[in-house]
Amino acid sequence: MKIGTEDRPLRVAIVGAGPAAYFTAEALFKRKELAARADMFNRLPTPYGLVRDGVAPDHQSIKAVTRVFERISADPRFRYFGNVTVGRDLSRADLLGAYDAIVYAVGAPADRRLGIPGEDLLGSHSATEFVWWYNGHPEFTECEFDLSVQRAVVVGNGNVALDVARILVTSPDELARTDIADHALEALRESRIREVVLLGRRGPVQAAFSSPELKEFGKLEGVGVKVDLADLDLDAGSAIEAEEERAARRNYELLEGYARGETPADDDPTVVFRFLVSPVELLADGEGRVRGVRVERNRLVRAEDGSLRPRGTGEEEILEAGLVFRSVGYRGVPLPDVPFDERRGIIPNEAGRVVDPDSGVLLREYVSGWCKRGPTGIIGTNKKDAAETVDALVEDLEAMAREVPEERSSDAVEMLLVERGVDYVSFEDWRALDEVEVARGEPQGRPRVKVCTIPEMMEVVHEARARRDKP
Ligand code: NAP
Repeated sequence: MKIGTEDRPLRVAIVGAGPAAYFTAEALFKRKELAARADMFNRLPTPYGLVRDGVAPDHQSIKAVTRVFERISADPRFRYFGNVTVGRDLSRADLLGAYDAIVYAVGAPADRRLGIPGEDLLGSHSATEFVWWYNGHPEFTECEFDLSVQRAVVVGNGNVALDVARILVTSPDELARTDIADHALEALRESRIREVVLLGRRGPVQAAFSSPELKEFGKLEGVGVKVDLADLDLDAGSAIEAEEERAARRNYELLEGYARGETPADDDPTVVFRFLVSPVELLADGEGRVRGVRVERNRLVRAEDGSLRPRGTGEEEILEAGLVFRSVGYRGVPLPDVPFDERRGIIPNEAGRVVDPDSGVLLREYVSGWCKRGPTGIIGTNKKDAAETVDALVEDLEAMAREVPEERSSDAVEMLLVERGVDYVSFEDWRALDEVEVARGEPQGRPRVKVCTIPEMMEVVHEARARRDKP
């Protein structure tokens, strides 16, 4: 029987609830010819993935995309199952038994490593840890960052590195207007950090951050920005790149503006952009804490693929710092029983179709977002990416119907979850939690005050359920 008709609707399990997951559901529902149902499974009780836990709290306008996700969630063809870990509460086999297809949209939750001595010293953190902590991710509320030090170093030149630096220097009174986690706000109020040094291993033209984000530093009240003009001397290859690539040129112009701008006041916290330097070792004090970073100066050389890559010159210096954030990109983590490409940190796939290295394409299994293409692009990039995956899935419907001729039951998964005692969170439950957070924020003029632990989240959910169940 054909899959995707009202008599035999296509039932899809989407694993994850971030932008890639939501855009996958949207792409499915947009197909007028297709009768589809989508169930979303998310490890945390709260939906929206990096929009809630990654996007910086002072970037509320970016979070407005949750309105699109709310609209998708209100669609009668959609169900949300939060607080459900696929690989623990439900296996891949359970999902294949209950659905026609699975789309993995689990993102890239781990961080890439630098691979240098001292990386694991006290005071050396991944940027992701810090981001999750200030955003109130329930698994990171207990993290501690020694903000009593004078100087922090952020390794990397992407937008996450800028987020980390900006949060470290923004006035806590400004942050108090956002939905930053209360524990982070409290700690940042006591911060003694005066200088944040960003280390780019390549030059200003090759920086991965985007210009609107770079421009924000010039607008931060009471924050200085320092760039050494000598760091803006371009080699011939970079000069051509700056000429040809608009975004790179714009970044360069902004950095030049900072370099030629006013010298920051002595007591202003300052962000320093350094280029063509790589950390080669984190140095320890007598108690195993970071006391500095040994960095090596680089020059750029043309690689086989035509890009300009950093090469160490042997010239070194030591940068004193009590806190180091490694912000060199995210990395995917494997899901139990699902193929994984360790080298690339993604689920191997062909245009969204999961590929097992031994047996080839796995019919009925798909992938979307960062776990498909790696941790690149902005939120909107996932829309096109999800559409490609849904195109592949729809092309496969006939083959799918041969493999799963019987209609999948819409109750199967709920029965499994109830049997296994999984206290899953519905979208209605999340709405109740959302309302509580927003209501807590209102008297303080904040978009919300986040509930930051799973037990507290579940308490709110249970209270709301009890109110709903009252006759
Ligand atoms: P990213 O954009 O990939 O940047 C990673 C940075 O780390 C690059 O500058 C890279 O330099 C550097 N790096 C990698 N390995 C290194 C090493 N061993 N030593 C020194 N530096 C190293 O990653 P991200 O900042 O984590 O951001 C992830 C994605 O989210 C990006 O697409 C980003 O644009 C997006 N994002 C967007 C926003 C926003 O729009 N506001 C905010 C946050 C994140 P090379 O270029 O030399 O490799």
